[in-house]
Amino acid sequence: MTDTEVEILPLLREKHINYIIEQDSHRSYEYWLSEHLRMNGLYWGVTALLIMKSLDESLPRSEVIDFVFSCWDSKAGGFGAFPRHDAHLLSTLSALQILKIYDTELTILGSEKREQVVAFVKGLQLPSGCFQGDRFGEVDTRFVYNGLSSLSLLDELTPEIVDPAVKFIMECQNFDGSFGMLPGAESHAAQVFTCVGALAIADKLHLIEDDTKLGSWLSERQVLPSGGFNGRPEKLPDVCYSWWVLSSLSILNKKHWVDLEKLEAFILTCQDSKDGGIGDRPDNQTDIYHTCFGLAGLSLIDHEKYNFTEIDPVYCMPTEVTKTFKKWKS
Ligand SMILES: [Zn+2]
Repeated sequence: MTDTEVEILPLLREKHINYIIEQDSHRSYEYWLSEHLRMNGLYWGVTALLIMKSLDESLPRSEVIDFVFSCWDSKAGGFGAFPRHDAHLLSTLSALQILKIYDTELTILGSEKREQVVAFVKGLQLPSGCFQGDRFGEVDTRFVYNGLSSLSLLDELTPEIVDPAVKFIMECQNFDGSFGMLPGAESHAAQVFTCVGALAIADKLHLIEDDTKLGSWLSERQVLPSGGFNGRPEKLPDVCYSWWVLSSLSILNKKHWVDLEKLEAFILTCQDSKDGGIGDRPDNQTDIYHTCFGLAGLSLIDHEKYNFTEIDPVYCMPTEVTKTFKKWKS
């Protein structure tokens, strides 16, 4: 092999499917520690299986839906991460995404819960335009994305919600063209996804005046020789940024600005060849989060090559689901 050739390992599809199915049977200490992320974890598992076109044969639909509804917080009108947990915007978006995958019209939610969840999400927006994650008030651009994405799934976006949210996002853009979690905060690739994704949902991508600058900043996240992406300058590459960076570049139509073959090779070297699953870096512990976003990255790179479901870079959901969404026009 010459220096310029890239070795691409095979995808361990069956091992990844088994790895995901077995997540729930691991009644380990780590498993119970992760209660606060369980709804997100379920979304990551469902999405990973969907990407590999094996959701229905791997996870019983009724069990997934029952778990989602067992996390309904009737007092707040949103979904918690686990039964009897308080509702949070992060788990509410994951719940809505899962339900939407099974029922694009969301009739499964029923009119009463639907009304409550719309009020819950709208009620988390602050006068600044930002959203807080829950009533305790943590604020960052992640929640703006979560708020707009949730309301988009529910077809409940209005100018009163969108305009201040967009104004807040634009305040978070930095001199380097990238975005941080709050106005003036350090640029970070995951925050770029939340901001660019939110602008795409709001139909306001044209507000990014210099998308070359942002595209360059995103391209510079590719670390050589490994080919993986990092989240900030000087940091190590990590599989999850395959999604956060490449989805942002896809939304900006600049996916070709990076070496996709090297990225593909990096993701595949982070697979656990024995037990399946994908870790953040080669030989590191695998987890469902990096497994989902590694596969989602591969789907963005070449879904046909892997016989994967095509994934929408704005919503991180299958395009066959998102094409049913009513597009918001500003
Ligand atoms: Zn990561």
